[in-house]
Amino acid sequence: MDCSSTPPAPPVHRASGHKALVGLVCALVLVAGSAFGPPVEPAMTVVIDAGHGGKDPGNLGTGRYKTTEKDITLSVAKKTAAYIEERIPDVRVVMTRTGDTYPTLPDRVRIANDAKADLLLSIHCDSFTKSSAVGSSSFVMGLGKSETSLRVASQENAAIFEEADPQGFDPDDPDTFIALALKQEIYLGRSLQLAEAIQTQFRERVGRRDRGVRQAGYYVTAYSNMPSVLVELGFLTNPAEEDFLRSAQGQDYMSSALFRAFRDYAKQWFSLESAVQSAPEETEKNPEVELTPSENIPAPAAPAWFEVLTGDCNAEVCFSIQAASQRSRAPLVTAEGADIPNVVVQQVGSVHKYRVGSTGSYAAACQMRDTLRRNGFPDAFVVAFEGDQRIPLQEALKKGRN
Ligand SMILES: [Zn+2]
Repeated sequence: MDCSSTPPAPPVHRASGHKALVGLVCALVLVAGSAFGPPVEPAMTVVIDAGHGGKDPGNLGTGRYKTTEKDITLSVAKKTAAYIEERIPDVRVVMTRTGDTYPTLPDRVRIANDAKADLLLSIHCDSFTKSSAVGSSSFVMGLGKSETSLRVASQENAAIFEEADPQGFDPDDPDTFIALALKQEIYLGRSLQLAEAIQTQFRERVGRRDRGVRQAGYYVTAYSNMPSVLVELGFLTNPAEEDFLRSAQGQDYMSSALFRAFRDYAKQWFSLESAVQSAPEETEKNPEVELTPSENIPAPAAPAWFEVLTGDCNAEVCFSIQAASQRSRAPLVTAEGADIPNVVVQQVGSVHKYRVGSTGSYAAACQMRDTLRRNGFPDAFVVAFEGDQRIPLQEALKKGRN
């Protein structure tokens, strides 16, 4: 049927049923074409990876329910994908799984790389040996040496060591790790930007406890050739957080938060003509709506060792502890999520340095350092200051003797 030619002239002497039908169909096709436009060329591709699946249940949470991490990651991944597809049709969404299946970690990377994706979002849930640990984190690829980075990386990478071909991946091998981190370095800025946006959404719109953005060596984010973020929605070993993340409302909230963070990121880097500008509706199902935090998550109780970090320094030379330094912004918290007190954050170039405590006594500083090292900050070391000026430790010790 040729619709581009002039429509047939109206019959003059006798009705032509066939011609009238062709004209009607052409008109309908033209109307339909103008209403819906040509098939939308995707402006970008996002891969959404629901962690674990099939024979790999992920973490088992508190053990009160049959559902495990793999069920929650799939549910949140599907809801997030549906929000994006509904509201930003010129974004192509690719899922690494849509059912209870087990793509290996290399399979997931292959799916993302073959799709020439512009972004990879991997969704997981955290676990810890103590049920008090609480909060949401986002991870980007990098040299994360904190206890949290190493713990989470080993949990999420566990599946790779059951594979026949782990591609030589050994997160404990510094050469492998540094090479992978350097490869991801070109994507780090964008990965950090999305991760920050996700954490802001989790904190401000869903009222989750914000454990910040960290760098860690995940297999999936390490080998994918695109900006990538791995989110830990919360701790399934914490009864309240597990109940929240299992609930339909909790999953709607978290998916909405992921959708909004993604939309803001995508709008900045891609021309998304189809981004829907619909008026918000007063429904929890609408991801555009700003939600009132459903609950306030209390911080875990301060452990007794925090006492070592208190005190002030009025001396000429003061000692302090550099507990951590990292590219990303993250509150300095214990493994359980309690805020370390008396933290001073100093940004030097693109690195944030986290300093804790202040004392005129070098011995007290060493005690602070050792306490921090024992409690999740293995790289803690003593630094010295004269006024606001950092001075070499040797010089500080010499001055202290005079
Ligand atoms: Zn996981």
